[in-house]
Amino acid sequence: MQSLSTFHTFGFNASCNKIITVSSQDELVGWLPKLKHQQFLFIGEGSNTVFVENFDGLVVVNKLKGINKFEDETFYHLNVASGENWHDLVTYCLAQGMYGMENLALIPGTVGAAPIQNIGAYGIEVNAFIHSVEFIDLDSGFAGYFNNKECEFAYRDSVFKKARIGKRLITSVNFAIPKDYAPVVSYSPLDKIESPTPQKIFDEVIRIRQQKLPDPNTIGNAGSFFKNPKIPLSHFINLQSDYEDIPGYSVDEKTVKVPAAWLIDKLGFKGYRYGDIGCHESQPLVFVNYGKGHGEELLVLAKTIKLKIIEKFSIALENEVQVVGQYGRINL
Ligand SMILES: Cc1cc2nc3c(=O)[nH]c(=O)nc-3n(C[C@H](O)[C@H](O)[C@H](O)COP(=O)(O)OP(=O)(O)OC[C@H]3O[C@@H](n4cnc5c(N)ncnc54)[C@H](O)[C@@H]3O)c2cc1C
Repeated sequence: MQSLSTFHTFGFNASCNKIITVSSQDELVGWLPKLKHQQFLFIGEGSNTVFVENFDGLVVVNKLKGINKFEDETFYHLNVASGENWHDLVTYCLAQGMYGMENLALIPGTVGAAPIQNIGAYGIEVNAFIHSVEFIDLDSGFAGYFNNKECEFAYRDSVFKKARIGKRLITSVNFAIPKDYAPVVSYSPLDKIESPTPQKIFDEVIRIRQQKLPDPNTIGNAGSFFKNPKIPLSHFINLQSDYEDIPGYSVDEKTVKVPAAWLIDKLGFKGYRYGDIGCHESQPLVFVNYGKGHGEELLVLAKTIKLKIIEKFSIALENEVQVVGQYGRINL
């Protein structure tokens, strides 16, 4: 058995049968026959994964590296190996004069995981820059490819989270970054930046994130635990009659997105602690491990909050984080 505590940012001392790292596509292909016949999980930096129990399988850690670049009249094209660090890529693009992804600075994790939940922050989602995603299909053993449309990107969602979850091992992501740059500063507090430039946006995003979010290197966490729920407009209007201050962002004519942090805060869970697990004191949607937390405590806290939100607001929360138990991913 090997400890996974340093392989996921929540830091639970869960273990698995064996941890292997893969540094090349050939190495990954070499492992396929073995992976087909046992339970395994392919991970990047474990910043969206929480091992709440000992995992009865193999954990394959992605260390595929490399960036290739070319350009045409309208786009910079990048082929980026899936094990590259996301923030390093954003920093690289800024230094090379390829602008637009600054709003996504400092999001932890690998490039290969970014399309899986279509990472997003401050008014931008990564799908705006993705041309296609390359993967190895576990069942066929062949290399495959999805263009942007086939990835079925949506809010914190993509085809990779749906059917055949875990069967497509993403090896690289192809980005097409428009040369025609327009800053996205509609989200507060980026809207306060005077004469926004890519560098100013990058610096401000880093400053806000460092101020607002707990650093996983200091206190274990996996970012937002739940997605912001989307509810019918009619339901939102009903809630407004009981909770005048309920925030909501229009998704389309019939749907409203409600901040899950507000719902959790309204229940009084901001800063709440259960054993060594808690809801962060300034960002209650982020669950934290104060050091000696257990997976069981996390499950109790998450399920309690989920249930209370159903009871009070008739809203069902969905996890954003991948929760992994003895037999793989768990749906709370
Ligand atoms: C402090 C903090 C802040 C965060 N802020 C944000 C934010 O602002 N916006 C946002 O969208 N997310 C945010 N996140 C979540 C997280 O950073 C992203 O989901 C990130 O993309 C996860 O990358 P990873 O390499 O750590 O993924 P992992 O946790 O290693 O993996 C996540 C899932 O993807 C699968 N997977 C990983 N790599 C591959 C691959 N190459 N092929 C196939 N499957 C794979 C894994 O099996 C797992 O199911 C935050 C997390 C933390 C800790």
